[in-house]
Amino acid sequence: MTIEKASISAVEKPWGSLSLLPWSNLSHGEKPIGELWFGRAQVNANPSSLLLKLIFAKEALSIQVHPDDKMALAMGLPNGKTEAWYVLSADSDAQVALGLKQCVTKSQLQQSIQDGSISDMVDWRNVKAGAVIFVPAGTIHAIGSGIVLAEIQQRSDTTFRLYDFHRNRTLDVQSALNAAFAGPAAQDIPSHSSSTGMSNLIVCPQFDLDIISLPPGGLHLFNAERETWLLVLEGSMQLGELNAVIGEAVFLEDEITTISSGGVGLKCLCARTGATHASDFQSGMAQSISAHEQGTETDLVLYPKASNISIHKEQEVFV
Ligand SMILES: [Zn+2]
Repeated sequence: MTIEKASISAVEKPWGSLSLLPWSNLSHGEKPIGELWFGRAQVNANPSSLLLKLIFAKEALSIQVHPDDKMALAMGLPNGKTEAWYVLSADSDAQVALGLKQCVTKSQLQQSIQDGSISDMVDWRNVKAGAVIFVPAGTIHAIGSGIVLAEIQQRSDTTFRLYDFHRNRTLDVQSALNAAFAGPAAQDIPSHSSSTGMSNLIVCPQFDLDIISLPPGGLHLFNAERETWLLVLEGSMQLGELNAVIGEAVFLEDEITTISSGGVGLKCLCARTGATHASDFQSGMAQSISAHEQGTETDLVLYPKASNISIHKEQEVFV
């Protein structure tokens, strides 16, 4: 049973930002910070399966691709890298690249990497705050300038760059060609609209991504069976004895606790390792409750009246 405030570490990036407000007041002198990584609080804890990050893209990130699990295993790596983004803020002209505009041959793709025309071949799409973007391994992608987003990903730092906007970092042409699907990405980019309770954004074998929105003063039971990360996006939350505010995250595993929102309510991102049978996952409050009753799922359970609650972890949890 684990519940702990996540550690935060800053990563310097050439495309990063000098100000991380309102997510963090960290600064690194004149050097831009591109990423904040949330990690296990205890240094010698088992590494988590998922990595939760905030990404501050003042300038565009490289056009890149990641290997899938099969390719990663063949390279002697434990796993590939499927990732997903939730856009927190975006300039009015902000875009992300997802897949190519059309299918090309591997030799056409190779040529476009070598002459830089790949930056026109990728499918740039407009995004705004609330956009949900799924980036399965093998998808050619980039985060454009003027975007702050939360990313959940398989724990892996294997990135093959196809184009770096004249920053002269190393490209990984052959590995990128092996990893990339040279065609359009299948999915649209939906935009999340707030509704009270737990809303599912993404289900894939690697992780589930949800948003929890609670009005002020809400008190609920939270059952985190699998590895779970909660990141506060708005307001504040009390999770058991821990308090977290905007930009802070909590790690839970095999834990049942209470979640309560502060005086202005709570909006938080909830990322969990994928269920064994991802296709069986049911989203939405009603389904969550019934799944919980079966004792097989981890979820948020609404209590009818907060004032009547008395909960002890050892007790059987029921609705
Ligand atoms: Zn990526």
